[in-house]
Amino acid sequence: MDYHDFLADHPRTYLGRGLPDKRRLALTFDDGPGRATPALLSLLAELEVAATFFCVGEAARAQPALIERILREGHEIGNHSLSHADARGFGVQDWIDREIHPAAAALCEAGLSEMPRLFRPAYGEIAPGQVDALGRLGYTVVGWSVDPRDWLEPEAPGYVSCVVESVLARIHPGAIVLLHDGDDELGRARHGIVEIVRRLVPALRGQGYGFARVGEFLPAQAVQARVEA
Ligand SMILES: [Zn+2]
Repeated sequence: MDYHDFLADHPRTYLGRGLPDKRRLALTFDDGPGRATPALLSLLAELEVAATFFCVGEAARAQPALIERILREGHEIGNHSLSHADARGFGVQDWIDREIHPAAAALCEAGLSEMPRLFRPAYGEIAPGQVDALGRLGYTVVGWSVDPRDWLEPEAPGYVSCVVESVLARIHPGAIVLLHDGDDELGRARHGIVEIVRRLVPALRGQGYGFARVGEFLPAQAVQARVEA
């Protein structure tokens, strides 16, 4: 099931885009930290852009210093499961116990000061009962509104231009842009992300866009619900 279908049913626990009231967008980077992450962080600092990283617990355990650096440099971290497992293979509580809590613990051990409040499902796949369970735990499930498919054929000629053009063609106020900095499933580093961001950020600024972290898109009632939980 495409979890965008949950938009109508789960307005308090699902966020697929920010309000279109301001010309701002959120860049999100999934699956890290990976070997491309240090260069990406240096570039984001140079460009003065704050972003959101949906990190995998096992990768955080392997490179806790990068989690600490992501936080220190002003970015936001969300939970992207422990092992990047497809949630559909689990019952609700089994999935929470094996993929959600251990990932949150790994992120906290690496320096996150409180439980992450954002979750993005691996492969964009999640069942309604799992969304509800995450909501009860205080998470907002985060989707995306712009997917340039940067994971597809990174060795192909014109790859960087293709991804940049894809984002620019689809961008809108309140956009949540899906990108990847973690190593891919074959263990290859996603170094192309650095050149993509180097070209994308000035082009978006040229269109009048500013950059937000996903948490800045959360409706006030979602933050309030978390405080009450
Ligand atoms: Zn992922």
